[in-house]
Amino acid sequence: MVMKSGIAVLLLYIAMLPASHVVVVGCGYVGLTLAAVLASADHMITCVDSDAYKIQLLHTQQLPFYEPGLVECLFDTAHKKRITFCHTNDYIPPVPIYYVCVPTPVDNHGACDDAYVRAACAAIIDTQCADDPIIIVIKSTVAPGTLRVLQQELSACAQRVDIVYNPEFMREGTALQDIYMRNPIVLGAQSQDALRLVEQLLATCLPTPTDIIKTDFETAELIKYAWNAFSATRIAYVNELALLCRALHADITQVIQGLALSEQLLPTAHLKPGPGYGGSCLPKDTKAFAHILETFGLERSIIHRTIESNQQHKATLAADIVRSVAPTARQAKMVALLGLAFKAHTNDVRQSAAIDVIKLLRTHDVIIKAYDPCAMTSMRELFEDVIYCTSAYQAVEDVDCIVVLTEWPEFKNLDLSIVASVCKKKKIIDTRNIFNPASVRAHGFEYLPMGAL
Ligand code: NAD
Repeated sequence: MVMKSGIAVLLLYIAMLPASHVVVVGCGYVGLTLAAVLASADHMITCVDSDAYKIQLLHTQQLPFYEPGLVECLFDTAHKKRITFCHTNDYIPPVPIYYVCVPTPVDNHGACDDAYVRAACAAIIDTQCADDPIIIVIKSTVAPGTLRVLQQELSACAQRVDIVYNPEFMREGTALQDIYMRNPIVLGAQSQDALRLVEQLLATCLPTPTDIIKTDFETAELIKYAWNAFSATRIAYVNELALLCRALHADITQVIQGLALSEQLLPTAHLKPGPGYGGSCLPKDTKAFAHILETFGLERSIIHRTIESNQQHKATLAADIVRSVAPTARQAKMVALLGLAFKAHTNDVRQSAAIDVIKLLRTHDVIIKAYDPCAMTSMRELFEDVIYCTSAYQAVEDVDCIVVLTEWPEFKNLDLSIVASVCKKKKIIDTRNIFNPASVRAHGFEYLPMGAL
């Protein structure tokens, strides 16, 4: 009760005082850029660092690194009055919101070291002299799982401490533009009140309303890593293409222009997970492309790894399905496969994930029922011993598990109460995420989507 009223007071405080006092721990690229942005929105900022030399430099209006425009913005006459710099050993004022922007290096095995983040949080807790609740916003990049554990540990503190993860996506060299204009905003938290407060604080600094992804810790932690790895993969791919262009006397600039056009056909925002790519083009052409790359000495290219990854994905999925319907000694199990084509709106089953699934299920003596609006004739040529049904409803009758393999619209529109009444066990493995998880679960199904909650 005391905790709840504490956070309510904090909410009121922020709502009434558009200009807040914020402490930023870590005077590096992220911390100082953030301080400049917060100061330009009239907030009072205390920047803290454990490196005495850095603090000394900042007191003389010098930056410990070069970042275009930052020195001007940070030491702008107006902003200057609102920003102070101090060492961790100095007095750090107790404030409602702290930002942690300290390093998170990786060890020799690649594991992310969160020791600096923990040290910064411990120092913040040490500064507290009252029972007022505080929010610690972590900007440092941390491995998935870190913040749930940290939040749990901080629950032992005398006062209420809520962590909000707000990973930073700025790039050195364009840090100010990125943080102001182009930065995606991701907020991960357990406490919705804390998340709302940080959102309000951010709203005071951002020029335009921005889309914000509000989520749990793990998803936010993963977004940051996935983003950087996606960027790194694309850069590495373009570099491999450049080597190939050099060997083939082709023009990398125009190849990249061509790649950019592909964004129109399959925008990143429309990417969806599935059971693995198939069909006539992607498997055939990636194989041919891998061969071309090998000819020029690129034997371990990203394309080779992509082919491997896709095969592995299909095998993993088939094994997962078998595991969840494995027959007992007493009774054979029956499974319904909804969709056989490699994607919707085609009857093409070449390299379809359904083939891997059927092959593996047959070795485990699982009875397979299947329905596809278009692709049953093609699949019958490969597997005669599957029970091909005339409708999805017929396919799901008496089965122990339903597996959605193709994203046909008619599957999405199935009446789940009918499905629930005719199947034997209410279990759906949805490799296309076509259903609304809440509605499937409300019908009593055990629902296993691909990577969704
Ligand atoms: P940085 O090394 O430039 O600055 C970190 C600062 O934290 C240093 O000045 C260091 O002395 C200080 N520090 C370390 N421990 C401290 C403690 N306990 N108390 C007070 N100060 C402490 O790091 P950075 O580039 O700003 O990165 C910070 C975090 O943000 C990292 O997790 C990084 O991965 C992430 N990030 C960085 C960038 C980037 O472009 N640099 C972009 C996005 C995210």
